[in-house]
Amino acid sequence: MYSYEELESGVIQAGVCTGCGACISACPLYYIQLIDGMPRRPKKRAACKNCGTCFNSCYKVKGESYGDNTGRYLRAVSAKWDHGTQCQDGGIVTAILRYAYEMKLIDGAVLTCRDNNSWMPVPCVAKSADDFDASSKTKFGVSPVLMDLRPAVVEHGLNKLCVVGTPCHIQSLRHLQRSNADVSSAVALTIGLFCSGNLEYRHIAERIHTLGIRPEDVEKLAVSNGRFIIKAGDRSESIPLSEIKSWVPGHCSFCRDYTGELADISIGSEGSPEGWSTVIIRTEKGEEIFSGLEKSTAVSVSGIGSAELERLKRASEAKRNSQNSYVI
Ligand code: SF4
Ligand code: SF4
Ligand code: SF4
Repeated sequence: MYSYEELESGVIQAGVCTGCGACISACPLYYIQLIDGMPRRPKKRAACKNCGTCFNSCYKVKGESYGDNTGRYLRAVSAKWDHGTQCQDGGIVTAILRYAYEMKLIDGAVLTCRDNNSWMPVPCVAKSADDFDASSKTKFGVSPVLMDLRPAVVEHGLNKLCVVGTPCHIQSLRHLQRSNADVSSAVALTIGLFCSGNLEYRHIAERIHTLGIRPEDVEKLAVSNGRFIIKAGDRSESIPLSEIKSWVPGHCSFCRDYTGELADISIGSEGSPEGWSTVIIRTEKGEEIFSGLEKSTAVSVSGIGSAELERLKRASEAKRNSQNSYVI
């Protein structure tokens, strides 16, 4: 039987681990921890049951699944939350979380928060509207969101969770559900965030420092028109993405999902005007929640032009075709 050793050699040391955190949640004995950004089984070698659960929980072992272009969907719109002035790109993720929570369709969420005053991304469990608001705004850096799945269920007692993450998190979560991993049945909704590639946080922190900006003064990090933007007060610094290719983690070169094809709802800025988000509603569950939110009149919604949709499909296709493949 394959076990942690094979996960370590075949995925982690092979450089294809995306740091999704699923194997950390999968180990029922909490033997796997996040150390230096990677899942590790420290000092527990003798105690490890060699049950293979961690190996089997890894979506990189069993393979990812993709549809055509942007994946299957029911409809796609542009939207913004009318009360989301403090949020980024329309605040639609926060609006959906707040609505689903209010309607008791979810009882919490696992997503990415900021570490204290910095912009370092850390996974967190959100259990209130205030928590959802606090987790808004785009963060860059590897965030092992799924490592908080087990604590959300076992320690916080949640059983109708929303998982918000990049396509790698959603691919991984769907693999957990297909494998009937115990904690995965507590997930009621998934929101996938468009992602063409991540940036390692340590490089961002270094650049913020070099620019003489205090991390607590940074108001927004974003990628727009081929540039990485750092906004702090009156300052807006932008760096061409071509200059920071080395900031992209190596594992992103194996990823072929741009829009979060397996999510209930996918959200990103591509295809919509500044201040709005593109929302791809993919499943009945996603439709139920988004159409409920629309009726609540808390959001403005408009159609997406065929040219914008075509651009989104081309971006998805480009990512699909340009990446490496890896089979363990
Ligand atoms: S006990 Fe099982 S799931 Fe946990 S580290 Fe060992 S093999 Fe992996
Ligand atoms: S489950 Fe996720 S975090 Fe664990 S080894 Fe696989 S890709 Fe890495
Ligand atoms: S490019 Fe893929 S692996 Fe990298 S952060 Fe985005 S979704 Fe995850």
